[in-house]
Amino acid sequence: MIVLKFGGTSVANSVNIKLVLNIINKKVETSKLIVVVSALSGVTDLLLLTAEKAAHKNVEYKTNFAQIAQKHIDTVTELIANDQQKWVVNKINVYLTQLKTILDGCFMLGELSPRTLDAIIGFGELMSSEIITSALQQSGANCAFKDSRELIKTDSNFGKAAVNFKKTDALICAFFNDNNSQIKVLPGFISSDEAENTTTLGRGGSDYTAAILANAMHAKSLEIWTDVSGMYTANPKIVNQAKPINRISYQEAMELSHFGAKVLYPPTIQPVLNSKIPIWIKNTFDPMADGTLISDNLPVNSNPIKGISHIDAITLLTLEGPGLIGILGASKRLFEALYNQNINVIFITQASSEHSICIGILNVDASKAVKAINLMFENEISKNKINSCIV
Ligand code: ASP
Ligand code: MG
Repeated sequence: MIVLKFGGTSVANSVNIKLVLNIINKKVETSKLIVVVSALSGVTDLLLLTAEKAAHKNVEYKTNFAQIAQKHIDTVTELIANDQQKWVVNKINVYLTQLKTILDGCFMLGELSPRTLDAIIGFGELMSSEIITSALQQSGANCAFKDSRELIKTDSNFGKAAVNFKKTDALICAFFNDNNSQIKVLPGFISSDEAENTTTLGRGGSDYTAAILANAMHAKSLEIWTDVSGMYTANPKIVNQAKPINRISYQEAMELSHFGAKVLYPPTIQPVLNSKIPIWIKNTFDPMADGTLISDNLPVNSNPIKGISHIDAITLLTLEGPGLIGILGASKRLFEALYNQNINVIFITQASSEHSICIGILNVDASKAVKAINLMFENEISKNKINSCIV
């Protein structure tokens, strides 16, 4: 069993979906497959925007809804043969009708709860996975659709629900052990809580869906198909010389994805870490490219520095002065001042001379932090033992 996940750009339109079908049809010659798909590119953002407009009583939500509907219907008509189209369009229309009813409700009430929002933004994956199932069936594949909400159970933390792995793993195993189609297609991103409400696994969460399935089924590998040829040594949009990383450990990949490498949703590695299932990052638009292999058994001499990632919108604050040297509790007071203001510290350094401490925080917290620190060290600052906080 192999788990394949295709991201939004891979399924953006009928042309791209045909590339996806080729990849799947080739893979299925050697293994049973679980295929997880994202929403068509841009659809989740558009669903979010439409929901917000409806809740703000902005009638434009109707135009946005029509755009969403058209995008899916166009994809069906371009992809599916005439005699099959009606059947697939009917299925998509069932989802669109449900979506429209919920949006109209938001508009009438002028309200959008986190629970309702999850119900709305989950429709992107439901429609994309139905379309891809039908396209695969048309290509002759032995393939069926399964709604992930029936397998992945979570708490009710809408927007970023936590998975109940015990229940989820049992449901996944029971379902797949009792099922013999060669290919199962499932929507990524969506799940359900105890009361059967739709929940979502966080933006970018389709990768996570695939990892949950791979782990429960002890898959031979997990393949994340995206629009770049793997994880890069740096962001290729910023650094010209960046190149794909061939091999990387789970821990290194986790660090890179936490700090900006967008190709992988950070929680994805966790489920497959213990089971040591290898993860491949592959490019739908260049399937012959090596891609990146994330695994445990790295060659001993492999390059110790794997990549450089970055995060934007960070402010560095420096507190310095002789009044910090050898003074017990100085850093405690610094961090307490930030803690009292609910400010999260992302990065910390202290010179070994103890003459200065530097911290990184989000830009939005900067002015609040400076005020709080200057107040905390007011006494030392007035006596010139410590300088005012440098931004
Ligand atoms: N469609 C969802 C999002 O845009 C999940 C995903 O694509 O991974 O966040
Ligand atoms: Mg993604």
